[in-house]
Amino acid sequence: MELGSKKEIERIEPREELYRCPSCDYSDGFHVSFKMDKTDRKAGVHLIFPNCHSRFRVGWKISFSP
Ligand SMILES: [Zn+2]
Repeated sequence: MELGSKKEIERIEPREELYRCPSCDYSDGFHVSFKMDKTDRKAGVHLIFPNCHSRFRVGWKISFSP
């Protein structure tokens, strides 16, 4: 199931502080979602800006403890 915008998830490069949406300039931060890898207990972290529902990836990856 995909939530939020259907647009492609673009990569953003954080500079100084990360709270502003590159698409609509919303500046109160973001929600997060996790895209599970199919092969291991890791997930990519996606940022979702609540104003326009654009999703971005920063390159963060988390792992779950066994
Ligand atoms: Zn936005």
